[in-house]
Formats: sequence, structure tokens, C-alpha cells
Amino acid sequence: MKKIIRNFGLLMIGITLFSALTACKSESQKTQLEQVRENNKIVVGVKYDSKPFGFIDQDQQLKGFDIDLSREIAKRILGDEKTVEFKQVTSSNRIFALTSNGVDFVAATMTINDKRERVVNFSQPYHVAGQAIMVPKNSIIANVKDLNGKNVGVVLGSTSERNLRNMAPRAFVKGYRTYTDAFSALKTGRIDALTTDDTILTGFLYEDDNFKILNHRYTKEPYGLAFRKSEDSISFQDIVNAALEDIKADGTLKKLQNKWLSIQ
Ligand code: GLU
Repeated sequence: MKKIIRNFGLLMIGITLFSALTACKSESQKTQLEQVRENNKIVVGVKYDSKPFGFIDQDQQLKGFDIDLSREIAKRILGDEKTVEFKQVTSSNRIFALTSNGVDFVAATMTINDKRERVVNFSQPYHVAGQAIMVPKNSIIANVKDLNGKNVGVVLGSTSERNLRNMAPRAFVKGYRTYTDAFSALKTGRIDALTTDDTILTGFLYEDDNFKILNHRYTKEPYGLAFRKSEDSISFQDIVNAALEDIKADGTLKKLQNKWLSIQ
């Protein structure tokens, strides 16, 4: 009798373990879209240092083009823009934020290029910027070649970091984690120039007009939303891309451009 009871006990433990395992399995088998719908939440990785795309304003509010665009996407997918949750990313950690499942997608001034397309999927471009150079108003630096022998600030993980090393190989490249840090290095004279997208540099120029942006644009930087390169993410990407198409087609994207970029 004791043996029967013991065997029955073992059987029950086995059944419990089995059902726990299968429950876990079905949870992890859900697609990203199913998860997002179940949680009624889309987590988006955005910049806090890249005005006018993602920045903290004087009232400590997160604002910008990428912020509004993400809210609009959440509204069209889950019916309410409040379902979006923002997490800060930087140029160097945004891909990790995606691949480690920290965010559902990235909306962070991120240029679509072949190298990145090997590790993430991109939406269609929603804006095109260009790499520019910012220097103090009285600087004699007039083009990219003049950066050789000078201290030049870039943000680590940005396209400008790589481009600068190719275009001015003898520049002393100073890498910063955020654009806020890089701009403060320019203001205090620790660097002679700062290079990145014209959009971000213009954002700084509106804060402080002791600087100028040189006329030439060295690249085209098409911004895309970035997604995980995984099978379970595809239906989510399709629905975000469809929302982005609608946002373009019904004139909402134009409105966002006018709101955030008309001064540029
Ligand atoms: N758009 C460029 C990039 O994706 C520069 C801006 C940024 O650092 O995000 O690297």
C-alpha cells in the first residue's frame, strides 16, 4: 500500500513538472505580436540626447520626432498611444537592447545600412539626414580634411564614428557615450569639432549659437525603425510597417516633420 502511495506521489510530481514545463514552452512559443497584444504594451528604445528626435525638455519630459512616431504606431496597433513604454538607448547599446529582448523596436535616429542589416531588420526610411560637421563660429576648420590633426568628437557606435576614421584618418577621434557629453566637450574646448547627423547638430545650434554647421553633407543617413532579426518577430514587424505606411499615407508623417524639423 505504502509503495502505491509513493508511486502515486511521484506520478503527481511528474505531472505537475510536465504541465509547468509545457506551460513555459507555450509562453515562449508566443510570437512577439501575441506577447505585445497580451501585455497591451509596446516597449520602444529611444534616445534621450538627440534633439529633436528624442530628448528631455526643460520640464523633464521626453519629447521628439521618434517619441511622437512611436506613440502614433502604438495607437494604431493597440488603440491607445499610452500603451507605449520608452526605454533609453544610446548609439552604442541600441542593437543590444533589441537582441537581448529589452525593447520591442528601436526608434533612435538609426541609419539603415548593410552592416547593421546583418544583425537587425529595418522598416522603410522615415527620414533622411546627412553627416555634417559642427565647429565654434570662429574656427578655421572648413571641411573634413581640416579635421586631420584635430580633436574631433563622435558618439561611439554611430555611423559618423566610422566615416570620420575613413574621411580624416589623422584626426584624433574622441568617442563619447552620448551627444550631450560630446556637445559639452565642444563647448569647453576639449574637442575642436563634432561630427554627426545634421539633424542632431541643428538641435544643439538652437540651444547655443556660438557654433556653426559647415555646409557640406558627407553622407545620406536614412533613419529606420529597427527590429529583432528573428522568426517570432516577423508578424509584429509587418504590423508596425503597415502602421508606418498609414502614417506616411495619411499625412501624419508630414505633420511630424513640420512639428519637429521645420526649423531645420
Ligand atoms: N544616424 C547615425 C547613426 O545611426 C548617427 C546618429 C546616431 O548616433 O544615432 O549612427
